[in-house]
Amino acid sequence: MMQEPVRPLERGASERIKDFEEVVFKYSEEEALREANRCLQCKDPLCIKGCPVGIDIKKFIRHIREKDYRGAYFEIRKKNNFPSICGRVCPAEYQCRKTCVLNSQGAPFASEKSINIHFLERFAGDYAMLNNLSSGIPETRPGSKSFKVAVVGSGPAGLSVAGELAREGIKTVVFEALHKAGGVLRYGIPPFRLPGEVLDYEINYLKQMGVEFVLNCIIGKTKSLQDLKKEGFSAFFLGLGAGVPSFLGIKGENLPNVYSANEFLTRVNLMSAYRFPEYHTPVNIAEKVVVVGGGNTAVDAARVALRLQRLRGLKGRVSILYRRTEKEMPARRLEIEHAKEEGIEFKFLVQPEELLADSGNRLEKIKCLRCRLGEPDSSGRRRPVVIENSAFSIECGLAIIAIGLGANRVLTSSEPALETNRRGEITIKDNFLQSSLRGVFAGGDIVGGEGTVIEAMSMGKTAAAGITRFLKSGSLPF
Ligand code: FAD
Ligand code: SF4
Repeated sequence: MMQEPVRPLERGASERIKDFEEVVFKYSEEEALREANRCLQCKDPLCIKGCPVGIDIKKFIRHIREKDYRGAYFEIRKKNNFPSICGRVCPAEYQCRKTCVLNSQGAPFASEKSINIHFLERFAGDYAMLNNLSSGIPETRPGSKSFKVAVVGSGPAGLSVAGELAREGIKTVVFEALHKAGGVLRYGIPPFRLPGEVLDYEINYLKQMGVEFVLNCIIGKTKSLQDLKKEGFSAFFLGLGAGVPSFLGIKGENLPNVYSANEFLTRVNLMSAYRFPEYHTPVNIAEKVVVVGGGNTAVDAARVALRLQRLRGLKGRVSILYRRTEKEMPARRLEIEHAKEEGIEFKFLVQPEELLADSGNRLEKIKCLRCRLGEPDSSGRRRPVVIENSAFSIECGLAIIAIGLGANRVLTSSEPALETNRRGEITIKDNFLQSSLRGVFAGGDIVGGEGTVIEAMSMGKTAAAGITRFLKSGSLPF
């Protein structure tokens, strides 16, 4: 008889909304073994086809079944440098779990029945962290030490490149605009989903391998690519991410207490505003908070807002407004589930039309229109169509806009020879992710694509292979 799926334990909703501690516990050994033993070890493992980096899932699960956790970790590491991170944040329900043979094929996302591959990946990654297995990875091949590579941006793409190059014995310096490394993993994804210690562990490991981090340094402002070339860097990787928030473009968006999700999350996650005044960054909160959007950013912002309310002793409510229905929400299913358990309200098929202030110019309500679903658009999702004469309003003291992010042009606009498309994304010229500038490679959100951590890391691996090849060819950069 088929065994029941094993879900790891979680902190209860009423307890976890009072702090920023991690929500999902890792599998115990017994739970991991039970879940691994549910895997059918298929002859043709469909799960692998769903993994964006092609991890041999069947094999790493087999290692877990055999209690060879070290083997499981190193199997994953062949394709993914950061299993503890991906095991926590990968949208597996749209990827490997969706294609797992135990899932009903053709469903929009994985059901409970498919193997919990991500939780098993996290188990192997956390085992490696606890037992410091990374230090056993063969490092630094001799012969490449004369080269120096500059990585701009310390998000998953940049970290992945740095790890790969360090292992090749290539001196790598990561330049980061912010005062802490990690990109969205640090400033966007809240610690209750990805604790800072997990990221610190991976970054410290890179440092031990010889990677240098230069923080508070904006390439394109503090220094240019030309300056770095003069300093002796022989190749470059641009992992700049997509850090510029989009806005609705409606009346009232400039009112006080209207945040972009990026600013709101950065204040809380990166600058520890939830511990104000111990930390110096303030953040506003209100009894009635409305978040606009349907992706991970919207759900994260809503859950952070709820925790801030509770920490400040406010009872209030947090609502998410989304133009489509729950089915079309791009956010991870687990986060949607957690948000519901925590009491976040979802208002579907609703589009904001105007943000309205009271007589003291304080945000008071959002005027909205109701929508219905029309024909599918270019993303394949059904387009929201506004219903005439459907206006209504929602009371709201703080609004967070989480409708998407675009390319930051600080660096690209300082290098006219670096080709970009109309969205400001860097144009890629070959399979190794080289840009229009010789010896300058790019990957992650700054080149467009799925916008996931695993995809950014995978591009980092590809670009690192391209950089190594470029350096060996003896070519000089731009
Ligand atoms: P980023 O992570 O954006 O990192 C880019 C870094 O470059 C930043 O630190 C930035 O400061 C730095 N930088 C930019 N310009 C310069 C410059 N000129 N000089 C120096 N440094 C510079 N994906 C998932 O798979 N699962 C999730 O659960 C998930 N949740 C998310 C939640 C939020 C709130 C957000 C915003 C995104 C989420 N994503 C998630 C998407 C995912 O985080 C991104 O796709 C991924 O981080 C992209 O990685 P990156 O390395 O390209 O860029
Ligand atoms: Fe195991 Fe599912 Fe992969 Fe088959 S498809 S090997 S059951 S994880």
